[in-house]
Amino acid sequence: MDNNFFDFSNRIIQASAEAEKVCSADFEKINEVTEYNQRKVLSSFIKNAVSEADFGASTGYAYGDRGREKLDRIYAAVFGGEDALVRHSFTCGTHTLAVALYGVLRPGDTMLCVTGTPYDTIHGVIGINGKSKGQGTLADLGIEYRQTDLDVNGKPDYEQIASDVRALKPKMVYIQRSRGYSLRPSLSVDEIGKIVSTVKNANDCVVMVDNCYGEFVEKREPLDAGADLMAGSLIKNAGGGIARSGGYIAGKKELIELCSYRMTTPGLGREVGATFGENRNMFMGIFNAPHVVGEALRTAAFAAALFSGFGFSVTPQPGEARHDIIQAVCLEEPEKLIAFCEGMQSGAPVDSFLTPEPWDMPGYDSKVIMAAGAFIMGASIELSADAPLREPFAVWMQGGLNYHSAKAGIMLAAQKMYNKGLIK
Ligand SMILES: *Cc1c(COP(=O)(O)O)cnc(C)c1O
Repeated sequence: MDNNFFDFSNRIIQASAEAEKVCSADFEKINEVTEYNQRKVLSSFIKNAVSEADFGASTGYAYGDRGREKLDRIYAAVFGGEDALVRHSFTCGTHTLAVALYGVLRPGDTMLCVTGTPYDTIHGVIGINGKSKGQGTLADLGIEYRQTDLDVNGKPDYEQIASDVRALKPKMVYIQRSRGYSLRPSLSVDEIGKIVSTVKNANDCVVMVDNCYGEFVEKREPLDAGADLMAGSLIKNAGGGIARSGGYIAGKKELIELCSYRMTTPGLGREVGATFGENRNMFMGIFNAPHVVGEALRTAAFAAALFSGFGFSVTPQPGEARHDIIQAVCLEEPEKLIAFCEGMQSGAPVDSFLTPEPWDMPGYDSKVIMAAGAFIMGASIELSADAPLREPFAVWMQGGLNYHSAKAGIMLAAQKMYNKGLIK
């Protein structure tokens, strides 16, 4: 391709062309899943007779907001649940997950996480680290937290899960689908299904999945594999890069009802909640989501092929099955992480002129450098990268609203490293 608009070296151009060849089989698989999920969403819009009237702006109590209620039904159908709650007023993924946890758990109950330590921001909700003690954490309310670790390969330890469920009789078993910012593999929906049957055979309880970063990566979702409840963020996969904020919870009808009383208040539940004209963005978001997830997956596959071509270890590897949109690249040295993030930032559509710097991010024990130039603050369905400056000096990157722009962003990251002599 012509070297238009950017000063790419021949080395980077050739390596990128090579990487795209390596990815062609990945791209075909991604395309098939995208088409399937896009049809699933479209048919649900048609079945639910979405119309202009659903985009109206409600205010105040907003009783009977038709668009809000229809969107709940569409999410339920698309994600394989009996019911769902979708609101722009869920402030982020952590908040949405917390509403689901508080909705279901009661004092004296046990929550058992069977995929090792959960995502960092959930620690404060559960009260694992003590830092949020007294803020009304689950621990403050007398809800016990227990954990079954992953095995040495980062896979679910099915035998241990079964014996822990039998011994602890938890009210809820919690599963995190995505790798988050660890190097363990993400869970496939099949693996989640195997955990569900292992758990239910041991003792009946609610199985909840943190589905962040997982939506539309496969044809099936965790509820299709038997999970009872799942939640995620709308500024990741499910919002399609268009929803400006929000989250969703989907699953069994009686559990969604419980969550609705925590979302607003007992007695009112889902009947209130003004949408202020956000419905249009949220409908467009879920409509766009399978496509955008496909673009993000192609971006991740390209990055994996490009950087493994430069000799770095990457996970997932080219050709490996993907169950979330995250790509980790082990860059081995802090200067490489910094150059990567600087280069990626220089290719962002927003804030390209900023230079990212390592900083002491709250909740981390080492400095973190991030590259993000997004239309929606913090949206990680848009191309972005995070890297704690500690062994193994890995960068976790995700997102990409469209493949061609995101590919340029990745190439600029490689170019910056090349300019500094960090890629041979
Ligand atoms: C992003 C994420 C969360 C939390 O979502 P926020 O929107 O950052 O609060 C929870 N779990 C996983 C696996 C995530 O990727």
